[in-house]
Amino acid sequence: MTNSKFEEINRALRQHQRFAILSHVRPDGDALGSQLALALSLRELGKDVRVWNEDGMLEKYSFVPGAKLLSKPASVPEDVDVAVALDTAIQNRLGTTLTAIRSAKIWVNIDHHPSNPGYGDIVYVDPTAPATGQILFDLIKNQNLPLTREIAENLYVAISTDTGSFQYPNTTAHTFELAAQLVSAGVDVGRVSQQLYENYPRRRSELLRELLATAHFEAGGRVASFSLSLNLARQLEVLPEDNEGLIDHLRAIRGVVVAVFFEQLAENKVRVSMRSKSEHVDVRAICERFGGGGHVLAAGARVRGTLEEVKSKIMGAICDVIGCES
Ligand code: 5GP
Ligand code: MN
Repeated sequence: MTNSKFEEINRALRQHQRFAILSHVRPDGDALGSQLALALSLRELGKDVRVWNEDGMLEKYSFVPGAKLLSKPASVPEDVDVAVALDTAIQNRLGTTLTAIRSAKIWVNIDHHPSNPGYGDIVYVDPTAPATGQILFDLIKNQNLPLTREIAENLYVAISTDTGSFQYPNTTAHTFELAAQLVSAGVDVGRVSQQLYENYPRRRSELLRELLATAHFEAGGRVASFSLSLNLARQLEVLPEDNEGLIDHLRAIRGVVVAVFFEQLAENKVRVSMRSKSEHVDVRAICERFGGGGHVLAAGARVRGTLEEVKSKIMGAICDVIGCES
């Protein structure tokens, strides 16, 4: 099944000329790394490739090879032969890149989110893959698509970030085998890791200090949360990308099973980010109750209401699952 699906994708890639490679709003390393890896491979084949993200390239990932290829979408909609959505569970999370495509002969959907409903003409969704970058590596290898050092580095960024540096339980022997092949293809692990994990702006640590000051523990320490108000975000001049990964400081605490990050957004909404340390506590199911989604151990939602209203609703839903009397 894998091979025939890879063959189908391969045909769509090789038989057409004009491409748009897209991913979700508020991109992470898997989104941007996957976009650039596939775009660079297609460019090696001489294709005409747009690489669009609603948020453009983030400062944090601007070191990756080919970063300059990635831009915000064109303001005048364009026609392409093939549009590829990567790492994007629901089509409208493509944001403004979706409306920037006037027409595409073929929509390809490659993803690892279990909640992906399978939109598009050619669909490859593997929820067992720890990163979309891992699926792309398998596609590239299986179908003999170009794999340069630059492509390998983008795939490494995608996989390293989505596995929490090869630590999350979805990291398998195959993930390490594939990482070894990427290193053989020229990835400088020390340099990439330093860029990814030891190159944060100082304001991110200042943000962490403020977040920890709001930390709250419930259910006998099994649920930990902190929150960021719009006021504080303005005061610290943080960028949305600054808080990526900060929730891990809550998850890292002994006894914590569920970690929650509440980030107040404009228009009376709150972004909820949730992590679980137990396969028995499915945070995706909790987030789905609020219109969100994700994976069993990492999920999120955008919920209408003030910070206090949303906190209380979400905590109630978590307590329904784990029981908070103790
Ligand atoms: P994060 O907490 O890092 O933003 O997201 C964790 C996981 O939950 C990701 O896999 C992401 O796709 C998913 N996720 C986060 N926010 C939302 C949301 O608003 N809707 C849906 N469907 N998934 C989300
Ligand atoms: Mn991903």
